[in-house]
Amino acid sequence: MNNNIYDIAIIGAGVVGSAIAQRLAKYELKTILLDKEADVAMGTSKANSGIIHQGYFTSKGTLKETLCLRGSALFNELCPQLDVPFKRTGALFCATTKNELKTLEGEFKNSQERNAPAEFIDDRGKIKKLEPLLKESVIAVLHFPEAGILVPWDLTIALAEHALLNGVELKLQFEVAFIKKNDEIFTIHSSEGEKIQVKTIINAAGLYSDKIAKMIGDESFNIIPRRGQYIMFDKHSLNLQKILFPTPTVVSKGIVVGPTMHGNFYVGPNANEVDSKEGTNTSIKGLNEILTGGSKLVDLPLRKHITNFAGLRASTLRHDFIIEPSKQDGQFIHAAGIDSPGLTSSLAIAERVEEILQKDCGFTFSKRTQYIPTLSSQIRMENLNEEELKSKIAENPQWGNIVCRCEMVSEAEIVEACHRQIPCTNTDMVKRRLRPGMGRCQGGFCQAKIMKIISRERDMLYEKVTKTGGKSYLVFNRTKNLGSEIFNGDHL
Ligand SMILES: Cc1cc2nc3c(=O)[nH]c(=O)nc-3n(C[C@H](O)[C@H](O)[C@H](O)COP(=O)(O)OP(=O)(O)OC[C@H]3O[C@@H](n4cnc5c(N)ncnc54)[C@H](O)[C@@H]3O)c2cc1C
Repeated sequence: MNNNIYDIAIIGAGVVGSAIAQRLAKYELKTILLDKEADVAMGTSKANSGIIHQGYFTSKGTLKETLCLRGSALFNELCPQLDVPFKRTGALFCATTKNELKTLEGEFKNSQERNAPAEFIDDRGKIKKLEPLLKESVIAVLHFPEAGILVPWDLTIALAEHALLNGVELKLQFEVAFIKKNDEIFTIHSSEGEKIQVKTIINAAGLYSDKIAKMIGDESFNIIPRRGQYIMFDKHSLNLQKILFPTPTVVSKGIVVGPTMHGNFYVGPNANEVDSKEGTNTSIKGLNEILTGGSKLVDLPLRKHITNFAGLRASTLRHDFIIEPSKQDGQFIHAAGIDSPGLTSSLAIAERVEEILQKDCGFTFSKRTQYIPTLSSQIRMENLNEEELKSKIAENPQWGNIVCRCEMVSEAEIVEACHRQIPCTNTDMVKRRLRPGMGRCQGGFCQAKIMKIISRERDMLYEKVTKTGGKSYLVFNRTKNLGSEIFNGDHL
């Protein structure tokens, strides 16, 4: 048997592909995780609300309902195991009219049938106690105390790193261009001419999962991108206790006002179909729409906004997740059409894919003998007390060099990020791991310093350090070189 043939290739290193890789890493399998981007979590998994939902407002009997509830439960064990910060803040669905109140009463019954803990409250005093910032116009709430929040890319990076720690391979900047099959073996071809041979493929390519399916002649679904826009506000500008939802409509759960793990808060998302799978731009109309929505629940401190962004849901006309072997080829499994609540469901989707591999694809798994069950995240300066920080600085003066003042990030932390399992080779990779550039100055003061550290640690030319990989160059050339050679052709 050719040792270069993989058992499993997962296309797409978003939260779904990374969760599948992490789950399969328990077994003696030769597995590879592929992504077209320079980092994991560069698709929808980096631009969403980061809410761990409780199955609310999902249609009965759907995969979304089942996997959302199962997925949420799995976070209790996984987050401590992989050192991923996670907080069950609780969520409030808010009614401002009698009709909305009726909708919430209906959903309360549904949540009882689902065994999802919930409480219907129409006493203003109790509502105020749960969330003092809510407007007086809110007449009733449906409280889900187990809904929670996390940072979606923290989760994705930890899942991928844990998979790598246990033998899974990761190939970034590998854009799957076409797939052939011969003698029961798939050959996956990249746009750069690389090839990977594999017995079984898992299609977790998010917005492009329909395109990947078509590569084996499967035209059973199309992905319709549905954009959601957000506005992010500065730390501590609104000290929210709960995630606040309006009463949902059939189209979406509505505009949320929600806290983040780092003390910021956001308003969003709206939901609009768009033509482009790269259409993550925001618009004045969209931002106004979400401000109007958010203002129905709380008074928004508008001057404290720091940035805005958008994410794209990978929706299909099935209105449910597609997790099944392709009808075209039983060794090609879809984890596709994963729109909301895909983040919540990711761990349960991975569990479901494992079952399919066993039942439908004939895999018999044997446990990996050298399995490492836990992952340690980076030590963060912001979590050290004075004594601990002093001793760190005595050991390594880079702990005393503050590179990002908004988020208090030291040089030592950035150096470590440049040498972890998935080494940081561009500034957004560092930003997602340590948060420099996510504060008030949005990177204005620290980005050049971070480029310098990446250039030194990864032995790259300063002008080759990019924002997100590929050709996203931040500088063109040395000023002194201008004139003789204006810029390097690479930068175009
Ligand atoms: C606005 C918004 C809000 C949301 N809020 C929540 C929430 O609060 N809670 C919740 O549970 N869910 C939420 N979701 C849903 C959740 O974000 C997604 O379900 C989840 O991130 C999907 O993960 P994924 O891995 O399937 O897709 P992605 O993260 O998009 O990953 C797919 C990967 O495939 C790669 N890829 C694509 N084509 C190729 C190719 N040809 N070759 C190689 N790689 C390729 C991409 O680069 C990408 O990294 C929200 C979604 C949106 C848009």
